[in-house]
Amino acid sequence: MSAESFNLLVWGWIALAFIVVPLELKVTAPYGRHTKSGWGPMIDNRLGWIIMEIPSWALMTYFFFTHGLSSNTVITVLYACWSIHYINRFAIFPLRTRTKGKKMPVVIMLFAIFFNIGNGFVNGYFLAHFAEYTNAWLSDPRFIAGIAIFATGFFINQKSDTMLINLRKPGETGYKIPKGWLFERISCPNHFGEVVEWAGFALMAWSLPAASFAIWTAANLIPRALSHHKWYLDKFPDYPHQRKAVIPYIL
Ligand code: NDP
Repeated sequence: MSAESFNLLVWGWIALAFIVVPLELKVTAPYGRHTKSGWGPMIDNRLGWIIMEIPSWALMTYFFFTHGLSSNTVITVLYACWSIHYINRFAIFPLRTRTKGKKMPVVIMLFAIFFNIGNGFVNGYFLAHFAEYTNAWLSDPRFIAGIAIFATGFFINQKSDTMLINLRKPGETGYKIPKGWLFERISCPNHFGEVVEWAGFALMAWSLPAASFAIWTAANLIPRALSHHKWYLDKFPDYPHQRKAVIPYIL
């Protein structure tokens, strides 16, 4: 594929992210607390997470190892960031959740697979065919700031997911009001952390495909966090009203 065709493809992919925002604001993806019947066949929640999150990592791994990318230090660092995130997301996070017996609609898993294939492809293909990083990029302020922002976002996402998972004792079901740390400011620090994480990755990679991932992440997670926030306010009359949904003091 020529560079022009590839860029056109990525711009189309970005346009799609903007198209899904109004849909995501209108219809909250029915998994987790928003699970509903009427969305067709269901699959075990943990299995769904494992299956839907593998493609992004598998595609990136395919490009990394079949195109000799490990000889490029910058690409190796980008691949390491990608792998740390995705190995957690498909192999560790689902097994830590206390959602035994819960299900998600197969169609939601398929939508996520579609996104993960698109995202893994555009980012992996770019690194394999068009990236021109040299070691000088390792000391560029964008790379240094980007990796620091990525690490901060990853930490926030991990810590918040862990606090949320631990709200349930083993075997418990149902929901509680999360308390402490960033939860005093926002309802969904895990979503906030993930948006920060991929914004950092986009900065350190300084590429259109990485920017498309940051845009898609915000397009998926900001509407979801708004729905979570509204759900908390509806469910718990004593929910702290000073909390915002996803961006401290702002949204
Ligand atoms: P949630 O915050 O809804 O859930 C995270 C886990 O904590 C789930 O196991 C959930 O159980 C449990 N939990 C959450 N709140 C409570 C509570 N108040 N009381 C008890 N248990 C609770 O996160 P999502 O499912 O929306 O997302 C999970 C992860 O995946 C996040 O880190 C998110 O950033 C990431 N993600 C990334 C996307 C992207 O586009 N990059 C898209 C979607 C998610 P239960 O499942 O039963 O609700």
